[in-house]
Amino acid sequence: MPLFGKKSKLAAIVHCKCPNCHEGDLFHDPNPYHLSRITDMPKRCPKCNMSYEPEPNFFYGAMYVSYAYTVAIFVATYIIASVWGGLGMWETIGCLFGSLLLLGPMVLRLSRSTYIHLVIPFGSRGDGK
Ligand SMILES: [Zn+2]
Repeated sequence: MPLFGKKSKLAAIVHCKCPNCHEGDLFHDPNPYHLSRITDMPKRCPKCNMSYEPEPNFFYGAMYVSYAYTVAIFVATYIIASVWGGLGMWETIGCLFGSLLLLGPMVLRLSRSTYIHLVIPFGSRGDGK
C-alpha cells in the first residue's frame, strides 16, 4: 500500500474515504462547512458494505486525534503569527481563535477519518462485518 498517490492511505484519509476499500465516502455531504450535516455518516460503506461504526460510540476515540491536530494547528499559527509575523499577544490570540474557527470543521472530519483508518487497515474486512 503506497503512502502517497491517488489510492494511498494518506489520500484516503485526506479525502475521507472508506478504510477498507478506499472508494466509499465516509460522509454523506462532502462539504464539512455544511455544519448541520457535519457528522452525518452512512452506517456502512456504499462500495464494500463495511460498517463505519464497528462498536457503539466508536468515534469518541477521534477526540484524541482531534486534540493532536488542534495542537499542531495552534503551534503552526503561533509560529507564523508571533515568531515570523511579529504580532503582539492579543493579535496572536485572535489568530489562534480565527484558525480554530476556520479549520474546526475540517479538523473534526479529518480526525474521524484518521481514527477509523488507524483502527481498520486496508482490505481487512471484505465480509461486511
Ligand atoms: Zn468500503
